[in-house]
Amino acid sequence: MSKKVLVLGETRAGQLRNVSFEAVAAGKTAAQGGEVIGVLIGDAVSSLAEEMIQHGADRVLTVEDEKLGQYTSDGFAQALMAVIEQEQPDGILFGHTALGKDLSPKIAAKLNTGLISDATAINEENGEIVFTRPIYSGKAFEKVVVEDGLLFATVRPNNIEPLQKDETRSGDVSSVSASIKDLRTIIQDVVRKSTDGVDLSEAKVIIAGGRGVKSEEGFQPLKELADVLGGAVGASRGACDADYCDYSLQIGQTGKVVTPDLYIACGISGAIQHLAGMSNSKVIVAINKDPEADIFKVADYGIVGDLFEVIPMLTEEFKKV
Ligand code: FAD
Repeated sequence: MSKKVLVLGETRAGQLRNVSFEAVAAGKTAAQGGEVIGVLIGDAVSSLAEEMIQHGADRVLTVEDEKLGQYTSDGFAQALMAVIEQEQPDGILFGHTALGKDLSPKIAAKLNTGLISDATAINEENGEIVFTRPIYSGKAFEKVVVEDGLLFATVRPNNIEPLQKDETRSGDVSSVSASIKDLRTIIQDVVRKSTDGVDLSEAKVIIAGGRGVKSEEGFQPLKELADVLGGAVGASRGACDADYCDYSLQIGQTGKVVTPDLYIACGISGAIQHLAGMSNSKVIVAINKDPEADIFKVADYGIVGDLFEVIPMLTEEFKKV
């Protein structure tokens, strides 16, 4: 049965994040031949509607208000609820990002419905929509079917292939009016940390350092390798706790969950809490002096050696490619 599915487009620095296109692709599957409606919320977002349509949305609804210029959960919830009331969708999809993780439970509670969080795949099986999601910190996966009610899910970045951009696609773009009022949070100012380019949660290549990196300066060879590969630098909590880098780089159970195409773990022992954040990476390379380190149990390729010798060699070789 074809369905109507809303997909929230998420922006960063005035651009749509890639996870928005991945969620549109998931929306296509969930809609089963029905309609995928992109939703853009902000103070001036309508210029991004076309790109959502080119990536597969059939039409786009915008909710624009100067009070929505910065994300607040109550402001965005009011805007999205206005869209939901107008459209009465069968499904809603968000990215499993900081915004999606904050907003989706609030909306689920308002709608008195369930939520499938952190879906890594969505498929149609025998006419049913089946979501796959990790459980037990990524050690197992469960398949979830919504038997009755709204298909409401967040999709993990970097897991669902976005549709090919088609510049010939067109679709309706219209606005929904919502009165945004009684906001309990007003963002006065946003001070952004410099993250040296590539966003960790969407990076295709991550070079992660652990306590074996030994100092803040020890991260420099990792940054050089990341630059050559167009990747991002991440870290274990061991490295963050030791003050070698900022906690915004932490990967793991209490940090970010990442699924890049290539994850190079440098001087990381492979504690279960770290594995929870990276073990679903497509290819894992571990560099560690200790041949017994647990990280080798999840690695596709292991290099036993000193990271300060191995990483510069890798960087030089990749420069030649
Ligand atoms: P270590 O375990 O000290 O490992 C350092 C490794 O570097 C060793 O294997 C060593 O052989 C190697 N090494 C040393 N020198 C070199 C060299 N020159 N070349 C190559 N290898 C070298 N951890 C996370 O990462 N993320 C989390 O989200 C997280 N959440 C947690 C939540 C809770 C509730 C708890 C209790 C812990 C959590 N931890 C988390 C911490 C986790 O248990 C580990 O303590 C941490 O991951 C260890 O970091 P590490 O591997 O960098 O350090």
